[in-house]
Amino acid sequence: MTHRSDNSYTVASPQLSCDLLVVGAGVVGLWIARLAKQAGLKVLVLEKQQVGAGASGGLLGALMPHMPERWNPKKQFQFEALACLGDAVRELEDETGLTCGYRRCGRLLPLVKPHHAGLAAERSLKTETVWRTSETGFSWQILDTPYGSGWPDVAAMPHGLVHETLAARISPRRYLAALRAAVGQALIEGEGFESLDAQTGTVQTSTGRTITAGHTVIAAGFESFDILAAMLSLPAPKLGTAVKGQAALLKADVDGDLPLVFVDGLYVVPHEEGTVAVGSTSEMQFEDAQHTDGQLEALVERAGELCPSLKNAPVVERWAGLRPKAIGRDPMIGALPGGADLSVATGGFKITFGIAHKMAACALEVVSRGGCDALPESFRIETHLRKAASEPG
Ligand SMILES: Cc1cc2nc3c(=O)[nH]c(=O)nc-3n(C[C@H](O)[C@H](O)[C@H](O)COP(=O)(O)OP(=O)(O)OC[C@H]3O[C@@H](n4cnc5c(N)ncnc54)[C@H](O)[C@@H]3O)c2cc1C
Repeated sequence: MTHRSDNSYTVASPQLSCDLLVVGAGVVGLWIARLAKQAGLKVLVLEKQQVGAGASGGLLGALMPHMPERWNPKKQFQFEALACLGDAVRELEDETGLTCGYRRCGRLLPLVKPHHAGLAAERSLKTETVWRTSETGFSWQILDTPYGSGWPDVAAMPHGLVHETLAARISPRRYLAALRAAVGQALIEGEGFESLDAQTGTVQTSTGRTITAGHTVIAAGFESFDILAAMLSLPAPKLGTAVKGQAALLKADVDGDLPLVFVDGLYVVPHEEGTVAVGSTSEMQFEDAQHTDGQLEALVERAGELCPSLKNAPVVERWAGLRPKAIGRDPMIGALPGGADLSVATGGFKITFGIAHKMAACALEVVSRGGCDALPESFRIETHLRKAASEPG
């Protein structure tokens, strides 16, 4: 891949060339483009709709650590990403002058069943080691008293409450706006990737334009799986799938500094300016990808029972989107086999916002030197391809 000092180009040209073409302007694609630009590469981002058209354009923005048991390289990767995200966001905010609505707010976990108390005590011990509590200051504590009045309601925590201080929240749309500003003119919206001639690195776009790229990274969310399947002549659903999710934004008189609350699949995430996000459904089967339904209304009702200050709070927005879930469940990152200058970075499923900056750093290392040692085995494209090959059909 060539490094060029002249980063200028005009996106109106019928033909373009770049060192790196990123397909998809979600949180992953924009992070890759930002880091590539910082590294001095001539980068272009091709987005078939507009920034945030995919799963990244949602409302929730919960940045929740994995549980400390069965610690593995994937959990370590996420831990390291969450630990340094605050600094990465601050740098982005300083560069762009835009705020991302990030706060290390922590998380409250109501203990609902009798055995949850014992489990929480075990987790408290485990976090001391895996989160290096004494060094990092991130803690997992079982509280004897409620955290705050009605946050959550005492009736919702019959066996106590855990307060952990590693979790954070971010405003997905503000974060994307800042990334978009950082990427600047490298972004081409309303123009999609159609095909790649792997021999020449020539990409055809949906407007009939040709882009010659030193390397192409597919970061097209769930649509990456179809693009890759076509390139690898595999049946499309094999490499991953789309999982529908629904979330809502409530207007409520709630302090935006409060910890997010998580219980039994329900997330309640205080944001700034008196808004609270509530989510999310997880639907493998769906007919209508874009609209919300009664499942979201049921979550909003549950949120009101969990945190009474949300009861009857007006819903200011309802939103549905499709998360990318790779066949191996973990993110999919790496160069495609066959030696073409083509790689992929997608599939973070429910944790992408907390790790996108680190996924992008790995993806860029793949671009520049063909691999990345920091990638957990389960994230590597080879691992996903082996899994796809072993599945029947
Ligand atoms: C309801 C819901 C709640 C969620 N909550 C959280 C949460 O609290 N915390 C968290 O970390 N994660 C959460 N997620 C998951 C997270 O939103 C996704 O994992 C993440 O946004 C995926 O980012 P991405 O950049 O990989 O893909 P996307 O954001 O989907 O971006 C892909 C982009 O590629 C574009 N594209 C597709 N095909 C082409 C093409 N051929 N040419 C050009 N462009 C193309 C699309 O238009 C899209 O803009 C949630 C998801 C949902 C649905």
